[in-house]
Amino acid sequence: MIQSPLLKSTNGYINGKWCAADSAHTMPVINPATGETIAIVPVMGRDETTRAVDAAARTLVTPASIEQRGEWLGRLADLITEHRDELGRIITHEHGKPFAEAQGEADYAASFFRYYAGCVDYLRPKQLAERPRNHAWTVYYRPAGVAALITPWNFPLAMLAKKFSAALAADCCCVIKPSSKTPLSMVALFSLIEQIGLPPGKANLVLGPAGEISDVLCQHSAVRVISFTGSTSVGKKLIADTAPHLKRLALELGGNAPFIVFDDADVDRAVDQLMSNKFRGAGQTCVCANRVYVQQGIADAFAEKLAARANTIKIGNGMEEGVTMGPLIDRKAFDKVKRHVDDAISKGAKRVAGCAPIEPKPNEGCFFPPTVLRGVTAHMECVHDETFGPLAPIIEFQSEEEAIEAANRTEYGLAAYVFTASDERAARVIPRLSFGHVGHNTGSGPTAEAPFGGMKHSGFGREGGLEGLHDFIETQTVPRP
Ligand code: NAP
Repeated sequence: MIQSPLLKSTNGYINGKWCAADSAHTMPVINPATGETIAIVPVMGRDETTRAVDAAARTLVTPASIEQRGEWLGRLADLITEHRDELGRIITHEHGKPFAEAQGEADYAASFFRYYAGCVDYLRPKQLAERPRNHAWTVYYRPAGVAALITPWNFPLAMLAKKFSAALAADCCCVIKPSSKTPLSMVALFSLIEQIGLPPGKANLVLGPAGEISDVLCQHSAVRVISFTGSTSVGKKLIADTAPHLKRLALELGGNAPFIVFDDADVDRAVDQLMSNKFRGAGQTCVCANRVYVQQGIADAFAEKLAARANTIKIGNGMEEGVTMGPLIDRKAFDKVKRHVDDAISKGAKRVAGCAPIEPKPNEGCFFPPTVLRGVTAHMECVHDETFGPLAPIIEFQSEEEAIEAANRTEYGLAAYVFTASDERAARVIPRLSFGHVGHNTGSGPTAEAPFGGMKHSGFGREGGLEGLHDFIETQTVPRP
């Protein structure tokens, strides 16, 4: 069992109090590197979630000043930074990513609270410069209501930080539901939230699989916003489940990122950027390259350099010194990556880095070797489906037009990357890529200061930047003679 000063309780948190499930049902939290149970947490359901929403709705009636919100956000940013090592240790234990990456996730989470602490003034009422109908018009940004925040396991702390920071800035009251695979980072965050003096009911934590929790969040009339990060299939289900209740949705869904490298690109830089973009989190990130398109003239040099670098990755328990890639989250994730690799090889692709994975034994970690494939073509499964694992499939192309067409041939539209020395080419290609985030000569992902989100089946709404506040505010106009 994991021991931590941030995990004195491993319960949920409703109306300012730690609480177990009414039914006393519990579930284990598993360390994916070892298969060990590291904590036991409650399985909550309909009643606890209803109480959490009711508490949030009661608190919503008393607004917090803009100054107060800025202070809460700043204090939480400082506390996360102060506890980055302990939060990192907890993230590594429940997710598996290397400790340095997990510390980086804590820093990234803190950056959202710090950013919104610095821009709460944006939410002050605005007086229109004009006087239409001879009235003074004031525009107010009211909290949208109780906000349900549902997050995945791949960034157990950061995905929630993006939502909660904006929701708190907007003065919403929140009910938070983390993935049941990684609830501990959230429990640890709540032990810090407890220290910033929020009113009871402002932030509530319900734990357990979605089922009944999601039913209440979709149906309860006080919940006005559901901000969800996760798979496209669950996002679509949320659209259907909330339609009768007309709730506002912000959906950060799956990706199938193309990484396009043109002949004139700096190959070393492109390889370097792909290494950190692709293999961070063992390839279990929504923004990581899923399809690597390389122009024919540089394909040999690119593949050779990428394979050499991929073979240097050290796989293991993320808490061990020198480990640069952890396990996959579970057996299901392992089977999917293996299926994609086997499918591609059976259709003619060649493995140029990595080796056949060792079958995981029950109660052991599911480690998958970083794999680079060449000779990948459009009819292979890994091109159409998000692999969510450490597989870099190289697809060669000849013309700019062909690269654009292939990159857009997906229902997803989250992140894309373009490497070229020509600004003219970039200016032609980037506007034609239907993706919310396009890295130009960089594999860098989102940041707190910039709005990030998807197009097409990757969802709608934006997180980060001033746009990130819009999902959590209602705009009210007040004309007055
Ligand atoms: P997931 O299976 O969709 O789960 C995400 C969250 O939704 C979990 O908390 C899950 O709870 C909950 N959930 C499951 N079924 C639900 C339902 N019917 N109603 C409401 N909530 C439900 O996704 P995941 O496997 O955790 O995450 C991987 C996916 O997230 C990938 O597709 C990735 O691309 C995407 N992602 C997108 C972004 C982005 O910014 N666009 C960022 C990160 C990840 P339980 O599992 O506990 O039941």
